[in-house]
Amino acid sequence: SQIQVPKTMKAIQVDKPGGPEVNVLREIPVPTPKEDEVLVKVQWTGVNYIDNYFRQGLYPKEFPYTVGGDAVGTLVSTPSNSKYKAGQRIFTTAGSSFAEYLVAPTSRIAVLPDDIDARDGVSMGTQALTALYLLKESYEVKKGDWILVRAAAGGVGLILIQIAKYLGVNVIGTVSTPDKAELAKQYGADHVVLTTTPSADNVAEINKLSGGGVHAVYDGVGKDTWEENFELIRRKGTIVTYGNASGPVPSFAPLKLSPKSLKVTRPSLFSVISTAEEYEWYTTELVKIVRDGKIKFAVHKEYELTAEDVAQAQKDIASRGTTGKLLVHVSD
Ligand code: NDP
Repeated sequence: SQIQVPKTMKAIQVDKPGGPEVNVLREIPVPTPKEDEVLVKVQWTGVNYIDNYFRQGLYPKEFPYTVGGDAVGTLVSTPSNSKYKAGQRIFTTAGSSFAEYLVAPTSRIAVLPDDIDARDGVSMGTQALTALYLLKESYEVKKGDWILVRAAAGGVGLILIQIAKYLGVNVIGTVSTPDKAELAKQYGADHVVLTTTPSADNVAEINKLSGGGVHAVYDGVGKDTWEENFELIRRKGTIVTYGNASGPVPSFAPLKLSPKSLKVTRPSLFSVISTAEEYEWYTTELVKIVRDGKIKFAVHKEYELTAEDVAQAQKDIASRGTTGKLLVHVSD
């Protein structure tokens, strides 16, 4: 059945850098897809930590913009020569997703198979694709490796743990509360240490558990945990710094890497999974792992597409009180 597309739609926009209160709900024109783009009727979208970086001006963004990264929805129109058909359910990381409709290039969408829940498909956007590329490319894990996952009970964290376990890796997580530790263990972490424990004790324990330091650290926390990473990584290990939840990592001299001959990488989803081929490879691999590995997607809470709810959700994720995904319901 064909979806009747209205002229205007509800969308959450930001006009200027600021706190969560700068999110506004607007009625704006439904976007018109270009030649290689699809029009998507959004069903669910979700909050990512990066929404805060854009809103605060830490990452470059032109104002005004429509908020949001990933979404699950139904294709309304597709380019005539594409393999996609109207009516198909897709997941995407194309952005501008806090809206009733979005446009996406065909190179940034993937079919969401019928056996996968729409809400799970939102977590499969930014957060699961990130977890997957971190483990496949930023440091490619091998069976039996030891890794450290920071913010292990977060959106990316809980997925990273599960994919790492699926790949045969030993996982140590770090979290800030006992409840989060329990959750990270439920999702498969072999060991979890609390960031409230003195750093020297955690470093000693991690070095002991891993037999002399972890092969890789996956760190989305940034500033607060940067120095500690150098004490719990093993010789020739890789520090993957992929986020700034506590603030950006300070500059450092390459000589800092020489005592253990370390590698440091600072990847971003958009530059790692960039071409149509990469997008197809990663989304296909992800669907396979989600099915074979029975990956579970934790949901912290469901919010509505209102300025109040979106502001609250962004406050919640920044306040360290959330675990898993913060979903935003857009349409049935
Ligand atoms: P999370 O659900 O993981 O939320 C952030 C978590 O960071 C918090 O729950 C908290 O866990 C931890 N944290 C530690 N210190 C602070 C602090 N001072 N303030 C706030 N939080 C803190 O968010 P996401 O899953 O959306 O993202 C995780 C990280 O990954 C973010 O930094 C994000 O930007 C990054 N990211 C990077 C991508 C990339 O390609 N480079 C793509 C996707 C995400 P705890 O309380 O347990 O410490």
